[in-house]
Amino acid sequence: MTYGYGDGGGGGGRRFNLRIIAGIVIAIIGVITYMTHTETNPVTGEKQHVGMNVDQEKALGLQAAPEMAQEMGGVLPDDDPEQKLVQSMGEKLVATSDAGKSPYADNFHFHVLADPKTVNAFSLPGGQVFITHALLVQLQNEAQLAGVLGHEIGHVIARHAAVQMAQGKLGQSLVTAVAVGASDDQRRGQTAAIAAMMANQMLQLHYSRGDELQADSLGLKYMQQAGYTPEAMLGVMEILKNVAGGGRGPSILQTHPDPDARIAAIKDYLQKNFPNGVPKDLMEGRSLH
Ligand SMILES: [Zn+2]
Repeated sequence: MTYGYGDGGGGGGRRFNLRIIAGIVIAIIGVITYMTHTETNPVTGEKQHVGMNVDQEKALGLQAAPEMAQEMGGVLPDDDPEQKLVQSMGEKLVATSDAGKSPYADNFHFHVLADPKTVNAFSLPGGQVFITHALLVQLQNEAQLAGVLGHEIGHVIARHAAVQMAQGKLGQSLVTAVAVGASDDQRRGQTAAIAAMMANQMLQLHYSRGDELQADSLGLKYMQQAGYTPEAMLGVMEILKNVAGGGRGPSILQTHPDPDARIAAIKDYLQKNFPNGVPKDLMEGRSLH
């Protein structure tokens, strides 16, 4: 997928405007309906305040994806080897795990962000998953990649972004953005700025510690169902301990709990699920170097 329509010629600009406005409207509807709506998440069983339905989440994620990409140095082209690797690993995870039974199964897309310095991974509501080039090059094997993508898939399926929006943590700035946009919605630059703001909010978003540990445990399950050893996630945490800042966006250490806290929770998970050790048929997969 390419993200060219943001600055394309001819009718592209108008289409871009409409898409962004539609996305913002969707988000606002979500915020407004929050109070009236509680759903039980079919995967996690939790009762959640989610002001959006699954289709709205998917639409919103698709709206914000190009802006997210732009904020992070663009995405690698479809035929880039890194992009192919990440897309195929993501597809494998979805096809072989419980993620494939979720209502998002048909809408997952996996993107490599070109940013060479920011070590992080992100997801948008509905199934848009991103990993930075800077993180990807540090991963040693397929299982570690499966762990990183599995964690992001976990955020999507547990609907963490939608819940945050419903709580107003994202919603308030979107309300402000629409108030600004409504007075001047003919101007493409302004609309693009609003979309950028939305993407930026999501980029800076901090989930709760509980959300992060839940995403880890869902990710561990998905990687294991795909045939990879969940122990590899400990290796990811060791890599993250040495992350330095300095890129375009916040590093994973700024948006996630301390790796040592996550290591403790991962070890608990392994102890609970594999008291006799992780089965030998769960693999690290190919080396990525
Ligand atoms: Zn996370």
